[in-house]
Amino acid sequence: MRIVLASANPKKAVELQELLDGSGLDLQVVPRPPDLPVPDEDEPDFLGNARIKAAAVSAATGEWAIADDSGLMVDALDGDPGVRSARYAGEHATDDENVDLLLARLAEAGATSPDGRSARFRCTVVVRSPDGRELVADGTVEGRVIEARRGTGGFGYDPVFVPAEGDGRTFGEMAADEKHAISHRGRALRALVPQLADLD
Ligand code: IMP
Repeated sequence: MRIVLASANPKKAVELQELLDGSGLDLQVVPRPPDLPVPDEDEPDFLGNARIKAAAVSAATGEWAIADDSGLMVDALDGDPGVRSARYAGEHATDDENVDLLLARLAEAGATSPDGRSARFRCTVVVRSPDGRELVADGTVEGRVIEARRGTGGFGYDPVFVPAEGDGRTFGEMAADEKHAISHRGRALRALVPQLADLD
């Protein structure tokens, strides 16, 4: 089965590709055609945005498509940046600008203790067929946001996120496979695999 990756973020696309390649399914993962327009992600939740992306790519290519939508939810910031994680510091913000703003907002909120900086990454994955069938899976990883970056791996908020079930390292300090084993995206993809295997 061929499946077109809908992610426009190249680092996320690499993660999704690695996770699907390791799934043991007979899947040929095809990168997103570069000339496809990127739809607005204006839904209030991860499921709505993943649906928009998967439906747009499936409609444009006539093939199966897979999209994920994900973000970081910080308790002290009432769930922000949430669905706005990629553009927290502005429409074309860089990862560094987003992380700087997050650390500044947490400092302003007086969130200094580790317990006061609890957070989670969430991910929803949607697979969509050209005839409108849809598969959905979710994943979450609990953790906390630290006060200064550590590590250069991964992307986005990885250098400031310490997962609760790790050994104190940030996602940015972990090898890709260590992150995948516990990450929100790894979990969502692993929950999707049996659904893909059940397709006739
Ligand atoms: P999306 O492309 O709309 O799903 O936005 C996801 C944004 O959430 C990314 O640009 C990152 O800022 C953040 N994010 C999602 N997953 C991760 C992750 O695994 N590590 C770090 N940041 C992430």
